[in-house]
Amino acid sequence: MQEVNLLGLGLSFSIWTVVSIIGGKIAQNKGRSFWKAWALCMLLNPLIGIIVALALNRYKNCQFCAEYVKPEATLCKHCGKDQAFEGVE
Ligand SMILES: [Zn+2]
Repeated sequence: MQEVNLLGLGLSFSIWTVVSIIGGKIAQNKGRSFWKAWALCMLLNPLIGIIVALALNRYKNCQFCAEYVKPEATLCKHCGKDQAFEGVE
C-alpha cells in the first residue's frame, strides 16, 4: 500500500508540475513572466493558474521603451509614444 501511495503522490506532483508549465506558457504568450506564473501555479493550484492566465489581457511591448501596453492602445502609457504598428507582436 505504501508504494502505491508514493506512486500516486509522484504522479500527482508530475501532473501538477506539467499543468503549471502550461499555465506559465499561456501567461508568457500574453506577455507575462513565465516563471512568475509557473511559481504561482505551483504554490496555489495549476488549474486556477490556467484560468487566471486565460483571463489575462493580451499585452504587447512598446517598441520604444519595451514596457507592456495593451494591444488597443494608440499611445504608450509609459513613454507616451505613438503605438501605430498594426497587430504585430
Ligand atoms: Zn513606451
